[in-house]
Amino acid sequence: MKSLAFSILRLLGDGSFRSGEEMAHHLGISRASIWQALKSLDEAGVEIFRVPGRGYRLRDPIEWLDQQAIATALREKAGKFDLEILDQADSSNRILLNKAALGAPHRACVAVELQSAGRGRRGRQWVSRLGGGLAFSLLWRFDQGAGFLSGLSLAVGVALLRAFNEAKIEGGALKWPNDVQHQYRKLAGILIEMQGDVSGPCAVVIGVGLNLQLGDALLAQIDQPATDVYSMTGQNPSRNTLFAALLRHLDDVLEQFDQSGFPSLRDEWQAHHAYQDQPVFLLMPDGSRRDGIVRGVADDGALLLESSSGITRYISGEVSLRGLA
Ligand code: ATP
Repeated sequence: MKSLAFSILRLLGDGSFRSGEEMAHHLGISRASIWQALKSLDEAGVEIFRVPGRGYRLRDPIEWLDQQAIATALREKAGKFDLEILDQADSSNRILLNKAALGAPHRACVAVELQSAGRGRRGRQWVSRLGGGLAFSLLWRFDQGAGFLSGLSLAVGVALLRAFNEAKIEGGALKWPNDVQHQYRKLAGILIEMQGDVSGPCAVVIGVGLNLQLGDALLAQIDQPATDVYSMTGQNPSRNTLFAALLRHLDDVLEQFDQSGFPSLRDEWQAHHAYQDQPVFLLMPDGSRRDGIVRGVADDGALLLESSSGITRYISGEVSLRGLA
């Protein structure tokens, strides 16, 4: 979308009516340009009502991410993060990986209002719509090598649940290795990508996509059960407050992980495990499946699956878990 479209969206952001003439005057452009930009918004799936005599109004008001509001809600952690907010980008992880390669600092963060090619694991896509969720990435530099980082995506899940708990978004549960669910529907996804080698220092980009209000059109695009905060709570939380809570809890959990590793977070993870002691199957990279009962996770974050041949460990890399119940 063009930057003019975002200027119009910001004018309409609070959900009140504005006439084409008023917007044209405010932005110093012609009404024809406003009309063109409104058309491009329509094509991008942003729903705008037009009422003759009153003007245009956004169907769903947008609370834009705002540096000042986030800093306030970060409380004592304000100033710790180097945060960039982008109107649009293909993927916050891709942008931050590039910045990391150019030397971006520890705790650099990129949040994107409209993400057009959000990434999941193994080339899958994370879809979202403007104002309907949060999409951001955080850079964490570890002195230990990549070998130390098994269990990191699980630790991040713990941080997300702590933030939800603070925001009174209750009932979230963790699915190994990288999802937050509510009633077996996917609420948030985590994607960890890293630069560095197995033994030396490494830069880790932690991407988070969270659904606040998906809307029917987006829900229909997702090929597995999905949900959003609005369906869970009947409310739309402040995006800025929730984002700041996520950053604060990520900071605490990542500090803890850095010092004590996943073992110190394992019990908390298991207390919120969606599939603890339940029958599941694992999809293996070669397309085969392994059935069993999940007995939780090990100190390194490996999944423990019990079958007739005993308990087998699975590391997260290429394995996908699916519930059977
Ligand atoms: P795995 O168990 O291997 O992690 P996954 O299907 O959850 O499997 P991910 O790579 O974690 O895969 O996430 C990408 C998948 O998430 C997509 O293929 C799609 O099924 C689903 N998805 C995409 N966007 C959303 C969204 N906004 N909300 C919920 N689920 C989504």
